[in-house]
Amino acid sequence: MADCLFCKIISGEIPSTKVYEDEFVYAFKDINPLAPVHILVIPKEHISGASEITAENSGVVSKIFEAAAKIAKEQGIAGEGFRIVTNCGENGCQSVHHLHFHILGGRKLEVTMG
Ligand code: AMP
Ligand code: ZN
Repeated sequence: MADCLFCKIISGEIPSTKVYEDEFVYAFKDINPLAPVHILVIPKEHISGASEITAENSGVVSKIFEAAAKIAKEQGIAGEGFRIVTNCGENGCQSVHHLHFHILGGRKLEVTMG
């Protein structure tokens, strides 16, 4: 999508620190890390957010979670644990409208759901 920050990161137009890539998925370090490990995992296909997942495009969500498990092991956080979060829409405080899953780990996270 022309005016999407994360589409531009996938195409290389905007630089990122890549940690994983395959046919369907791209993952990179969050520019403003909230934990020692903070990685964003995104589909290469533009999907604007969790509310736009459908029967036609939902296959990529399993690819994202497969990638996340690999990344967590590679980053050394799989054993101690981590969190996967997606924010959606205004009340969810989504700031970039390309579906993304935050992987947060490397410290004990707060017990909060909002
Ligand atoms: P959200 O608020 O859930 O939409 O998350 C968007 C995330 O994208 C935030 O954690 C930002 O720090 C991150 N972000 C924004 N721009 C960039 C960028 N150029 N490279 C890496 N991460 C970014
Ligand atoms: Zn996009």
